[in-house]
Amino acid sequence: MYDSIVIGSGAAGSTVARKLAEAGKKVLILEKRSHVGGNCYDAPDEFGILIHEYGPHIFHTNEEDVYEFLSEFTEWYLFGHEVVANVHGELIPVPFNLNTLHKVYDKEKADKLEKLLIEEYGEGSRVPIMKLRENQNPEIKAIADYVYENIFLQYTMKQWGQTPEEIDPAVTGRVPVLISYDNRYFQDKYQGMPKDGYTPMFEKMLNHPKITVELSVDCKSRLEFGEEQVLFDGVPFDGDVIYTGALDELFDCEFGRLPYRSLDFKFEHFKQDSYQGRSVVNYTVSEAFTRITEFKYLTGQIDTNGTTIVKEYSFAYTGAEGETPYYAIINDENQTLYEKYAERIKKIKNVYLLGRLAEYKYYNIDAIVKKALELSEDIIRR
Ligand code: UDP
Repeated sequence: MYDSIVIGSGAAGSTVARKLAEAGKKVLILEKRSHVGGNCYDAPDEFGILIHEYGPHIFHTNEEDVYEFLSEFTEWYLFGHEVVANVHGELIPVPFNLNTLHKVYDKEKADKLEKLLIEEYGEGSRVPIMKLRENQNPEIKAIADYVYENIFLQYTMKQWGQTPEEIDPAVTGRVPVLISYDNRYFQDKYQGMPKDGYTPMFEKMLNHPKITVELSVDCKSRLEFGEEQVLFDGVPFDGDVIYTGALDELFDCEFGRLPYRSLDFKFEHFKQDSYQGRSVVNYTVSEAFTRITEFKYLTGQIDTNGTTIVKEYSFAYTGAEGETPYYAIINDENQTLYEKYAERIKKIKNVYLLGRLAEYKYYNIDAIVKKALELSEDIIRR
């Protein structure tokens, strides 16, 4: 009855489902949660403020095809996202850039250091903190130490339970030191939010005559992943199966649990116009939470009464009921374990793994939409 079964309706699953449906395939989506949109899911809270239930998601991309594809389902509230770090009560722009440099050092020193950084790395360049730390020039080393100690060390300890040395350098490399006066968190051409929220965007994407979405369904109640074949409701299924969930949990963690970091979100509402006057403040040297997001500034709901914020507390995912695996912890040991699961499933023809969980990767929204567009094309061509 179905040509394709997609497990999960986040950015990965929804994009694939839509593209396969447009190519004429009849698609079934099995979604464990009671809603679509994955971790991008947003909805008004009890005070009428649109919040991101699974943490702040800011869309940004340089990929024209991704932007075009998503724009079929939404208009945009576009803005240049900015973040500050609270360092002992002082707010400084993050990523650390030339504006930050001039805030931290007096004019004469900052002018000198600015010249030095530009000579060394070139204007406009992006230098990962772990790279900057390798510089032997004592003056540059001093900047690197400042940035490391005041921006990266404690935030990373809170977020990952490990030091910046211990985690994959690509993770801290997401927020490089910028040799420019650009205060934006991302330098991408398009950045912002779907105008009415992510949920309506994904609902529109999935609103297609060839797509059926079943919510609150654990795929394991309908699908069985045998050694070489998938059974759907007990019958061999030879269509495409696109799995976007956690791979270890699909196999009841038979080789052991894949480690993830999870987050505890503490939402608070205040009957005042503003809490922090901006969308995101990172707490890089104090507090148990990593950052505070004030939604009205993120989503452009400036005129709403009252304000809702969220504090993020990171912890090690255990798989307990109610916990969500958000971040794969990328290192050699975990990759080896992941490969064991991937090998197990690769023996089954027509099963595809896609997304942060199924691929055990750290994808941004645009990167996973891009990957999903490419996978759909591959599947359709086959
Ligand atoms: N990071 C940090 N201090 C900051 C911002 C980021 O130490 O103020 C490090 C931290 O290790 C974090 C990583 O850089 O996990 C990536 O940050 P990003 O903001 O991209 O994380 P996400 O928004 O995906 O949670």
